[in-house]
Amino acid sequence: MITIIPQPTHLPAWQQELAEGFRSPKELLAFLDLPQDLWSPDAVAIFPFRVPRGFAARMRPGDPYDPLLRQVLPHAAETRLIPGFVSDPVGDTRARTAPGLLHKYQGRVLLITTGACAIHCRYCFRREFPYQHHQFTLSRWQAALAYIRNDPSIKEVILSGGDPLMLSDARLGNLTQALADIPHVRRLRIHSRLPIVLPSRVNSDLLKALTSTRLSCVIVVHANHANEINDEVAEAVYRLCLHAIPVLNQSTLLRGVNDRVETLMALQETAFEAGILPYYLHLLDRARGTAHFEVPEIEAKTLYEQLRRRLPGYLVPRLAREQAGAPYKIWL
Ligand SMILES: *Cc1c(COP(=O)(O)O)cnc(C)c1O
Ligand code: SF4
Repeated sequence: MITIIPQPTHLPAWQQELAEGFRSPKELLAFLDLPQDLWSPDAVAIFPFRVPRGFAARMRPGDPYDPLLRQVLPHAAETRLIPGFVSDPVGDTRARTAPGLLHKYQGRVLLITTGACAIHCRYCFRREFPYQHHQFTLSRWQAALAYIRNDPSIKEVILSGGDPLMLSDARLGNLTQALADIPHVRRLRIHSRLPIVLPSRVNSDLLKALTSTRLSCVIVVHANHANEINDEVAEAVYRLCLHAIPVLNQSTLLRGVNDRVETLMALQETAFEAGILPYYLHLLDRARGTAHFEVPEIEAKTLYEQLRRRLPGYLVPRLAREQAGAPYKIWL
C-alpha cells in the first residue's frame, strides 16, 4: 500500500534550486552575455523552456555554439515539419499495458512516474508525450502495481518519466517499498538526468529511499558532453557509489553537441573519472521538431568505429537505436 507522507514545510535544497532555475531563454542568454535573437518563441510554445542555474553555469559565456546551450535553446527549426519525424517515434503508445506502464521488453517494465523534468532538452523524444494521461494518482499507480504483481516474469522495474527523481523522497520511498513488496521484482532501475543537471538532488533522504529495501538499485544518468560533468556531479555519483548503487550513462548522439570522436572520447573519459560507466549511445529518436539534431546512421557508425579504436572496451558505450515493435533495443 502507498501512504502519502505529509511534505515538510521547508523545501529541501534541491527543490529550492529547481524553483530558482531559468524559465525563459531571455534570462539565460542575458546570463551568458549572448544576443536575444538566438531563440524562437514559437519553439517555446510547443515545448516550454527550463534550465537549472547550476547547469547554465557550466556553459561558456559568449559562445552561441556552446554544446550545453545547444541542448536547451529553443530553435526555430523545431517548428518545421519533416517527413519521418513524428510524435511517437518509438511506439510507446502501443507498449502501454496499464496507465503509466510500458511493457516492451521481456523481464522489464518501464513506469512513467511523472511528466516533470528539471531541464527541458530540445531533442527529447518525450517532448510530445501525452503526460496528462500518465499523471500520478494513487489509483493509477495501483493499476500499474497490480499489473506487475500479476506477471511473475517481471524482474526489473525502470522508473522513468519525465524524470523520476523529480518525485519527493517520500513518494519515491513509498513506491520503492510497494515494488519491494512484490516478490518477483528484484531490481529497481532509475533513468534520471537529475544527478547531472541538479546534483544536489542526491541527498541523504534519497539515498535512504533507494537503499532501505531488498531491491538492487542501479541509476542510469544522462549526459551528452564532458562539460556537463563537474565536481558537484562527481560528488553526487560518489555518494551513490558509497551506497553500492552503480551509475551508468546513456547519451544521445546529437549534431552540434557531441558529433566528433574527440568529444565522445572526452565524455566517456570524464564520466569514468567521476565514477560513471558508459551504457548506451543512442541514435536520435525521430521525434517531431528534432531533425536538426540528427546524425545519420552511416556517420554514426563511422564515429563509433573510431571510438572503438581509441578507447578501452569498458569505456565504449553500445551504439543503440530504438525500433518500434522490436524485442530489444537494436545494437548497431
Ligand atoms: C529502453 C527501454 C527499456 C530498457 O531497455 P534496456 O535495453 O534494458 O536498457 C525498457 N522498457 C522500455 C519501454 C524502454 O524504452
Ligand atoms: S525526459 Fe530526459 S531528455 Fe527528455 S527533457 Fe526530460 S531530462 Fe531531458
